[in-house]
Amino acid sequence: MKVFKFGGASVNSAEAVRNMAQIVQKHIESVPLVVVVSAMGKTTNLLEKLVPGVSSATEAATLRQQLRDYHMEIAKSLIPNHLDIIEKIDTLLHNLDGRVVSLVPSPEQYNYNYDQIVSFGELISTTIISAYLNTLGINTLWVDARQLVKTDHHYREGQVKWELTRAACKALVADSMTYSVILTQGFIGGTADGHTTTLGREGSDYSASILAHCLEAESMTIWKDVPGFLNADPKYFDDTVKISQIPYNEAIELAYYGASVIHPKTVKPIQNKGIPLYIKSFITPESEGSSIGNYHTISPETPLYIFKNNQILLSILPKDFSFIAEENLQVIFGLLNELGIRVNLMQNSALSFSICIDNNPQRTGLLIEQLRHSFHVRYNENLQLITIRYYTQEVIDRIVAGRPVLLEQRSRSTEQLIVPQS
Ligand code: ASP
Ligand code: MG
Repeated sequence: MKVFKFGGASVNSAEAVRNMAQIVQKHIESVPLVVVVSAMGKTTNLLEKLVPGVSSATEAATLRQQLRDYHMEIAKSLIPNHLDIIEKIDTLLHNLDGRVVSLVPSPEQYNYNYDQIVSFGELISTTIISAYLNTLGINTLWVDARQLVKTDHHYREGQVKWELTRAACKALVADSMTYSVILTQGFIGGTADGHTTTLGREGSDYSASILAHCLEAESMTIWKDVPGFLNADPKYFDDTVKISQIPYNEAIELAYYGASVIHPKTVKPIQNKGIPLYIKSFITPESEGSSIGNYHTISPETPLYIFKNNQILLSILPKDFSFIAEENLQVIFGLLNELGIRVNLMQNSALSFSICIDNNPQRTGLLIEQLRHSFHVRYNENLQLITIRYYTQEVIDRIVAGRPVLLEQRSRSTEQLIVPQS
């Protein structure tokens, strides 16, 4: 079995869905192809505004109309006899309305409410795409990912219950061998007692990798709008180089440093089973793309760049000039953990401890406020964290381009720099 994942950009219009279906059609084999799909286009962003308490009733009504118009237009354009699909979409929207009014808009309930609402993006997209594939004569089974990817009750970041998920996958295989395609949602999962969870924003890659792991798939392919794994984000570089082969551990490192091409949790489940991961372009599906697998080095060998904007560098100093000792670090990490803040880079000296984190105004504000009970805190905002794997001095100089370096850390393979955002 093979697992394919299509993200929001690959299904953001009727034309995009037609293209996606062509790719699927070309890969049909004697065993079902498992296809994992995200919400269409930017639907998840829109749904975030429908979480109870986020928008006013009038705003919500407008957004709901936009949501309906967008999906109806795509469905009507794809499916000639669209009465059935219109009814199905309206039923889903009706269920969504029911959730919106029945959920209590409280901050404590926010994460729970979020998952119950935002999951409709994937439910609607897969309902339309499944109907379309069937009209093309591709025998498609629509599967509810909430019955497949089982998680705990950690809303907005469901932790996978592997045994339950494996069992559900096994049952699915037993029941679905006559189909050409098994179509399911990325991003969403379900608890044993029937509540919807999500795996974190952009989590569909991870969904596909969970399923590939549990189904012991032959391979997994992520179809993207870029030709493969590039050595830098094309937003920043004109002359990017496509990396053809990437070792699993290198892919994990790159995702950890913030390479946005794959979700950070994606690689481990497939690495554990030795399943190759291909990244290919849905725009030029015949071209080769990149593959992540059991390689020793990246190929071609070239520097790799990861840029993270909107960083804040905090310097934390004990008020009494005591050393930065384990007790202090324990307090600092305790707070970071409590607030769910990930440290992108850290460095300590005798009298201060510096951390670079994403500048999320709400969380950073809380962190600084709490730290100030025990420490002096200084900070610099609007920074960029640059990571260069396989650097040379020449490459570093070119990237820094004369900007002052606030902090630098270098290992044999990786250079990290914090500079003002240009
Ligand atoms: N639709 C979800 C999001 O936009 C999941 C995904 O696209 O991977 O975050
Ligand atoms: Mg998306």
